[in-house]
Amino acid sequence: MLLRRILFGGVALVLLTYLLFRPPPPGGDDQQLVQEQFAAMGTWFTVSIWLDAPEERAAAQEAVRDVERALHAYTRRWQPEGEGALGTLNAQLAEGAVIDVPEDMQPLFAQAAQWRARSGGAFDARVGALVELWGFHLEEAFRDTPPPEAAVRRVRERLAEAPAYDGPRYGPAPGVIWNFGAIAKGDAVTQASDRLETAGFGNHIVNAGGDLVVRGSRSDRAWRIAVRHPRPSATQQLLAAIEVADEAVFTSGDYERWFTHEETRYHHILNPDSGQPARGLQSVTVVTDSGIDADAASTALFVAGDAWRQMARQLDMDTVVVVYDDGTLGMTEAARARFNRIADAELRPAP
Ligand code: ADP
Ligand code: MG
Repeated sequence: MLLRRILFGGVALVLLTYLLFRPPPPGGDDQQLVQEQFAAMGTWFTVSIWLDAPEERAAAQEAVRDVERALHAYTRRWQPEGEGALGTLNAQLAEGAVIDVPEDMQPLFAQAAQWRARSGGAFDARVGALVELWGFHLEEAFRDTPPPEAAVRRVRERLAEAPAYDGPRYGPAPGVIWNFGAIAKGDAVTQASDRLETAGFGNHIVNAGGDLVVRGSRSDRAWRIAVRHPRPSATQQLLAAIEVADEAVFTSGDYERWFTHEETRYHHILNPDSGQPARGLQSVTVVTDSGIDADAASTALFVAGDAWRQMARQLDMDTVVVVYDDGTLGMTEAARARFNRIADAELRPAP
């Protein structure tokens, strides 16, 4: 009886001590953290906001609704096919017409043209016809075999002959379908972040399926971002983590849209030169201060494949992490200094 009372008292004491001195939950005081999810641009968005005060929660949620509405309008405008603004321009080009790019679309066309020049053509938003040939533009168009070589050659040749954009007039370019899939997310996420900032929520992450823009901090701590492993397993889902403030983290990988045929993986990032899916890497992650730059650069670096270090220098991107085809890691010096490695992949030394 006495023993039971002592035992019980001991357990109660331990419990009480735990309740009084338990460590704070991870993430600190969740009262000030808002996290909202919604689908847009064909992916899942997660918006995280750190509030100055818990009473701002409802206003923050309303600001996120506003961001969501803007993203739906954005998606429609930049969809390469269909009734939206870009779909209409592409339909006009296909008929051999000259197009006038509307004023509100000119900045992103100009950015895309600049990125094509900077990357020596590795990034090229005029690749829409190749994307369609490979069936990566729509779920219903998905293939399980590569397209015939002669068709790839034809599309490549037309792309090689097509004019560069120095707008706002463009064409005739009947072989060109504009596709902003490799840069529009960077633009949209940045606009969403600006919108939150204007609404008074300057501490946030706008995360579009792993591609994200970060502003400010969460209280006195930096936002911490994890990058997913391109070949996740039960025990290794994450590749590395980094603390960021006022930066964008974008990843291009061969695991977003792909099929396998005769043991070869065919994925949605195409080398405009060869007309084939780019080879050499499984993923490229870029950290830089602009969302548009991070998005375009990650695609260009992915296309560069084994030559990514040279491309990174050419594009002035200093924080880059890649996973090679064989599963080994490549990191720039700046990336090694900032990322915590999570996966136990071997690091290939710089040559
Ligand atoms: P994700 O779509 O996973 O964010 P990216 O930002 O790299 O990856 O964008 C890939 C998309 O961009 C493709 O689905 C396609 O629509 C388009 N695309 C494919 N290859 C290129 C390229 N070489 N240059 C520009 N856009 C491309
Ligand atoms: Mg991109």
